[in-house]
Amino acid sequence: MDKMIIDRGAIYEEWQNKMVEGQGGELEKFCSEQTIKKLEQICDKNFYYYVQYQNHLEDKLKKKENKNYATLKTQRSKILNFLISNELGNRPLEMITQKTLNKYFEKIYGSGIEGDTFATEVRYVKRFLKYLNEEGYILNNYDFPELKNLNSKTEKNLMKPLTPEQVSIFYDSYKDSPEYLYVFDMKYYTDFKDVDIKNLSMDNIDIDNSRITVNNTSINVPKKVIAHILELDKKKKLGKLSSVSAYFAKLKPLFQKMGFDNIKPKDIFKETRDKLSFRCPQCGKTYEAIVDNWCVVQYTENGKLWIVCRDCGRKYENEA
Ligand SMILES: [Zn+2]
Repeated sequence: MDKMIIDRGAIYEEWQNKMVEGQGGELEKFCSEQTIKKLEQICDKNFYYYVQYQNHLEDKLKKKENKNYATLKTQRSKILNFLISNELGNRPLEMITQKTLNKYFEKIYGSGIEGDTFATEVRYVKRFLKYLNEEGYILNNYDFPELKNLNSKTEKNLMKPLTPEQVSIFYDSYKDSPEYLYVFDMKYYTDFKDVDIKNLSMDNIDIDNSRITVNNTSINVPKKVIAHILELDKKKKLGKLSSVSAYFAKLKPLFQKMGFDNIKPKDIFKETRDKLSFRCPQCGKTYEAIVDNWCVVQYTENGKLWIVCRDCGRKYENEA
């Protein structure tokens, strides 16, 4: 085995000062105070193993195009929970038995956790121990719980898209808060990253064509979206939002009122957009299912009445 060189203080300091890309592309701390407190509880050997594995995960991440640390952080927290568990009792990992591991997973599953979350717990601990085994730190090869036939997500946690009525309630509730309308619009109508939503400036806006361009991606948006942006700019708040996720945190009460108890608001926008849009049968483009975007045409005398997008409707009128 490698010589164990541990300077916990130096590692803590490095990790606490490091900023990395989190979910949605916004910069956040690589390691929180809370994580350090947990790390303080584990023995030197396990700490060493843990650091090796973190470095390994980070090296892998650096080779990826998407350098989002969210998954790495989740893995870290699952592994830490395992390392500080009573079942492990802070024994060095090379000493744990199959029985210990079984007890740990039985306890978690017994706590009524959802199947999917349990599967994630198992997978992350499994990969960690497998890595240590492959690198020669621990010799045991363990069996892990079967992940088939676990209870699946409960209904309340499924990502239910908003209904048209709920979207209207949203706009109504925040009609005097352009920041909220802005964040909602951008999540609902575009796929821009949180960091781009946060940093948007008037340079990204083509008012005449109702278009937003970020990093060579252009998206046409309804005129009201541009109006909300202009209002935000007038209040000198465009590009000055604290963070997009902070707004989602504040949206929670409204979403709870709408009956979404355990949902992370930021997850339901794309679902909502997909559900509240149609594809034009003529050109195949997708538009929100509001009257402004659609019209009715009859291509042949006494033929069917079709619903097509405004663009296709205009083209038909010009040709007719
Ligand atoms: Zn069309």
